[in-house]
Amino acid sequence: MNIVVCIKQVPGTVKVKVDLEAGTYKTDDSVDPIINPFDEYAIEEGLRLREKYEGVVKIVSMGASGAERAIRNAIAMGADEGYLVTDPVFTGADTRATSYTLANAIKKIGEFDLIITGKQTWDSDTAQVSPAVAEMLDIPFVAWVRKIEEIKDNTITVERLMESGYDVIQMSMPALISVVKEINEPRLSSLRGIMKSKKTEIRKLSADDIEADKEKCGFAGSGTFVQGFTYPEKKTGGEKISGEIPELVEKISSTIIDLKLIK
Ligand SMILES: Cc1cc2nc3c(=O)[nH]c(=O)nc-3n(C[C@H](O)[C@H](O)[C@H](O)COP(=O)(O)OP(=O)(O)OC[C@H]3O[C@@H](n4cnc5c(N)ncnc54)[C@H](O)[C@@H]3O)c2cc1C
Repeated sequence: MNIVVCIKQVPGTVKVKVDLEAGTYKTDDSVDPIINPFDEYAIEEGLRLREKYEGVVKIVSMGASGAERAIRNAIAMGADEGYLVTDPVFTGADTRATSYTLANAIKKIGEFDLIITGKQTWDSDTAQVSPAVAEMLDIPFVAWVRKIEEIKDNTITVERLMESGYDVIQMSMPALISVVKEINEPRLSSLRGIMKSKKTEIRKLSADDIEADKEKCGFAGSGTFVQGFTYPEKKTGGEKISGEIPELVEKISSTIIDLKLIK
């Protein structure tokens, strides 16, 4: 089975500095990048499927050259091949341009049976890329997959996590699923994997390599734009109160009532 796992490199901190003029966050050396945590579950599921059904796990990431590190980490976990989709024309991509670029790259990489993504990223956090890639590749898609029950006769049966319970869904393959953390427990990299990840060639794919229409990539291909960026107002902090317990209870309850938090 040909399994493609899409991973995004994200800042490994919530203390991200923002470039207010460009409307993007700064990716300098002080921000230690990591694989988007939800994408680790996607990698793990790809590896488990390969162990069960045989095949190849291909990692695809669109990003700047630094994203190569995330791909190597995925290979250290056990993935077979890595593809970095990178080109200056991809800069400023919104979710539509990102999805277009990823879909083109996946087509170029070769035949695929299943594409696995995380349910969302923890930086931009839109959860739009997975359905958009499926739409652009014209393949079925199920979000929030918590279990793959079976793959048989070119059909995949999955459980989709719902607010109360789950749905069982069958789709024909090739297909795309986005996975939730309930699906598995990602493995740690083995020493052998780490050694392999250092030697594996990560193939770089430019806009020309994936035969992308440059008008559909990056800023040019983005239907949305960042109009402005502001930091949230700093909280000034509340009033400090002190005293005996009955007095404190009285003050707190009257404050809660004044704020109309309870009647
Ligand atoms: C106007 C605009 C300009 C932007 N400019 C920039 C910019 O200059 N630089 C920048 O870094 N970001 C930029 N962004 C953010 C960028 O659009 C998103 O990072 C990107 O589209 C992915 O969206 P997301 O993080 O919400 O992914 P989600 O839709 O939440 O991701 C779902 C899953 O899709 C897969 N996935 C998502 N992104 C990638 C990827 N890049 N490679 C492989 N798999 C992926 C992962 O498996 C992920 O778990 C911009 C956004 C807007 C709206």
